[in-house]
Amino acid sequence: MSRKVRHVLGISGGKDSAALAMYMKTHHPEIDIEYYFSDTGKELNETYELIEELESVLGKTIIHLESNLSHKNPFDHYLDIYNGFLPSSMARWCTQKLKLEPFERWIGDDLAISYVGIRDDEDREGYVSTKPNIQSIFPFRKHIWSIEVLNKILHNTNRERVMDLYRKYGSPELMNRYSEIIGEPLTSKYLFSQKLKDLLHLSISKFNYVVFEFLKSENYPISYLKEYSLLNNEDSVDINKVYQLFKENGVKVPGYYDEIEFEINGIKGVYNRSRSGCYFCFFQRKIEWIWLYERHPDLFAKAQEYEKEGYSWMDNETLAEIIQPDRIAQIKLDYIATLQKKLNGKNKSNRLVDILADENEICANCFI
Ligand code: SF4
Repeated sequence: MSRKVRHVLGISGGKDSAALAMYMKTHHPEIDIEYYFSDTGKELNETYELIEELESVLGKTIIHLESNLSHKNPFDHYLDIYNGFLPSSMARWCTQKLKLEPFERWIGDDLAISYVGIRDDEDREGYVSTKPNIQSIFPFRKHIWSIEVLNKILHNTNRERVMDLYRKYGSPELMNRYSEIIGEPLTSKYLFSQKLKDLLHLSISKFNYVVFEFLKSENYPISYLKEYSLLNNEDSVDINKVYQLFKENGVKVPGYYDEIEFEINGIKGVYNRSRSGCYFCFFQRKIEWIWLYERHPDLFAKAQEYEKEGYSWMDNETLAEIIQPDRIAQIKLDYIATLQKKLNGKNKSNRLVDILADENEICANCFI
């Protein structure tokens, strides 16, 4: 049965989703992508500037999804509903209400492939929709598939089916090797990650064709496509290539990533904001709160207004406490020390924003 499949890409205001949009336009112009932005009404100005620049590079409108059009501000509307209970990493109602729900409403029951800008040098999945009619694809990674799809392909019970597909799509001269790899069950000695690596090492595109055909008999949006140009994609995009995409397209990296110098007790450091999203996002580090206080005092004051009736953005201190001079000095010194430790380790990029990238499961719609 043939059904239309939509291709959608969310712009968060972060550098990776913006780079992915530019990448798809250049490398896959044959895919008609709808770009969208879930607006919380509390984003930084740089996010809106980036969206404007991207619209001109992409030659398309980026659709603004708002969570509640009848209210003047989406975040404040839901905050009232939650009786002033501020969101936190343990209670992320904002992600659900302001990012995921508007997106899922916009898609409705349509089949959609959602392109996510998680890079090849990152080891995470991101927090994405789990609705069965929305499938996530990751064009920056060596393979483009979600962990859920990979689990199916590499599951021990599917070895025979996968081998049959390799007989059809694999290179004849490698058939013995495919058979060895696929025939060996996953155990504590032969791990999922190793098996995947072994198959990708033989050929990424052949692996993609096998997965594509495998999914034809499963109920995924991609099963409804006759062909899919990303199957031949053997590119991988890391952090350096992301910056290169900005440069090649003449788009300015959002200003909040700019490193700003500060000095404390005679020691020099630099700080910035590590990601997009709401100016008061509770995921930001203490040094980012200090950055907000010193670089955008108006926004910091607005964030402070939300701290009332015992609610605060951080677990262990309030914004009023964090900006006491001694506390600011301590946070800056701790940050310089942490950074130094990380710089001594191995990092693919020497930019602070990448060195301090978040290791949590973050929301693809807010930060990527
Ligand atoms: S950026 Fe932070 S505060 Fe804003 S919606 Fe996302 S998680 Fe919530």
